[in-house]
Amino acid sequence: MTRTAPLPPNSTIGIFGGGQLGRMTALAAARLGYRCHVFTPERDSPAEQVCAGATIAPYDDRQALDRFAAEVQVVTSEFENVSADALRHLAKRVPVRPGPEVLAIAQDRIKEKTFCNSVGAPTTLFHAVRGPQDVARALADLGAPAVLKTARMGYDGKGQVKLDRDARPDEAWRAMKADEGIVEAWVAFEREISVIVARGVDGAMLAYPAVENRHRHHILDETIAPAPIPAQVAAEADRLARLLAEKLDVVGLLAVEMFVAREGAVLVNEIAPRPHNSGHWTIDACLTSQFEQCVRAVAGLPLGSVAHVPAVMKNLIGDEAETWLELLKDPTAKLHLYGKAEARPGRKMGHVTWVNKAP
Ligand code: AMP
Repeated sequence: MTRTAPLPPNSTIGIFGGGQLGRMTALAAARLGYRCHVFTPERDSPAEQVCAGATIAPYDDRQALDRFAAEVQVVTSEFENVSADALRHLAKRVPVRPGPEVLAIAQDRIKEKTFCNSVGAPTTLFHAVRGPQDVARALADLGAPAVLKTARMGYDGKGQVKLDRDARPDEAWRAMKADEGIVEAWVAFEREISVIVARGVDGAMLAYPAVENRHRHHILDETIAPAPIPAQVAAEADRLARLLAEKLDVVGLLAVEMFVAREGAVLVNEIAPRPHNSGHWTIDACLTSQFEQCVRAVAGLPLGSVAHVPAVMKNLIGDEAETWLELLKDPTAKLHLYGKAEARPGRKMGHVTWVNKAP
């Protein structure tokens, strides 16, 4: 369904997925006078705690999807490891922004990199693989080191196996635990960056500055905003993010994760059609946060200014969140906790942002 008129205040925005991204989107929506209704399989999720309504059901429950569609005026997703068919089903009843076909590309690393290359956005070289023999062929072509990743349902380094010179393709294939994968040439990157671009129903775009992302154990640890990179590298990252948002016809947000290679080339690694962990700093350091921008875009409102001050954002992973009181003793630390009852290792429990802080 398409509808281009701005959504009036008191309308209800449907959020597909119940995590912290949905929570922060709902909080931003409330400030603009909207209600949110979340669809999630889990009770007491971070988003449900702050939403006016919730549909608790598996993502592929058609009747529940119909009930959800009847409650909301537009749907946006905060999570991409759900079936694109569920979003296609919703899209017949209510506008889904960004649309299901964007999700279908973003959730499949082969489709994603193939699409990027087809519109002129460079990525590392890669091969689609369906078994150990394909892995051996890909390694022979790309050389070691390389990385084998699941084509779908991977995040935070899950389902990834590094292939060194002496790697055994059959062992790597078994370790990946999936029936379709991608072998990527290893990028000796200087740093990892990302750009979040917002695109409205009228095609207008605004992008946040490129930020640097530092990972620990494959999970985002710190974001430095803006990234300390030469202006022409930042401009290239901005150009690629806008190019992809436009070619995908995104309405909402598109986060584009990129590598800056040693020689300065910018390569796209992953895209996500939703708010992104590397944009959390915008809540405290930017005139319009990524969450408000997401709401503005999907609700058909004008986009807000991305004027900002520099910031550093640190994720609180697992038991790091136990330091909450210590963090609050620094009056300049802006603490955000996501309402998750249990701090499992690797689980994103919250984040903290310092504005105007040198990295
Ligand atoms: P991804 O799930 O694709 O975001 O990968 C998780 C992390 O693994 C990235 O943030 C990089 O640090 C690293 N990584 C992924 N792919 C490559 C690659 N082709 N070359 C080097 N490092 C990679």
